[in-house]
Amino acid sequence: ARLRYHSASYINKLQRDDAYRALRASQMRLEELNMQLLKLANIDGLTGIANRRRFDERFAEEWLRALRNRHSLTLAMFDIDLFKKYNDKFGHLDGDECLKRVAHCAEEIVSRPADTLARYGGEEFIVLLPETDSSGALKVAEKMRIEIENMHLPNPDSTVSPFVTISVGVLTVVPTENSTMDDCLRLVDDALYQAKDAGRNRVSVAAPPAS
Ligand code: GH3
Ligand code: MG
Ligand code: MG
Repeated sequence: ARLRYHSASYINKLQRDDAYRALRASQMRLEELNMQLLKLANIDGLTGIANRRRFDERFAEEWLRALRNRHSLTLAMFDIDLFKKYNDKFGHLDGDECLKRVAHCAEEIVSRPADTLARYGGEEFIVLLPETDSSGALKVAEKMRIEIENMHLPNPDSTVSPFVTISVGVLTVVPTENSTMDDCLRLVDDALYQAKDAGRNRVSVAAPPAS
């Protein structure tokens, strides 16, 4: 009886160890899957940069931080010029490739840890630059515009340049209780469309919201 008892408890222990090992493995797998899910929820599938959801989250965080600290905050919105002509010429797959190249080029320029570059819509991107004043903002915007044109991706039917170019709207703001994030998005979007109206392949600076 003693032998039977000890061998049964030994087998129980082995089974318990196995069960714990399996539990640990499935917990690790779950953690991995959660990380992947979080990444998928924040990243644009085509370009690998942040998506609009992530941008909205980051903008809200930085807005509150700037409001507390009375710091300036910059938004730059850009859109590829005459991109429809690029797609019509080379097809949608090459169009997608072009979007990736543009995103990666901008990514190199927007390099501070707190900066966020996101795909805002189809061929429209947005940059959030915390603690950046208007002269710094203009430098980053011009640099993106120049570097993207300097990749010399051909857009032969563009009326602006033989190459792929962007138009950029920029807004630098010190958030106050009287201004809203939506006001700022509207203003930076207006500035982008001023850059388009003024002939494209240029940067247009928005006046900050009245406070
Ligand atoms: P504008 O200078 O005024 O911005 O001219 P545009 O031709 O870029 O503007 P429009 O809004 O007329 O066209 C945008 C084009 O972007 C049309 C659409 O086919 C293309 N586009 C949007 N999203 C994607 C995408 O994910 N992949 C590809 N390949 N093309 C896209
Ligand atoms: Mg567009
Ligand atoms: Mg466009």
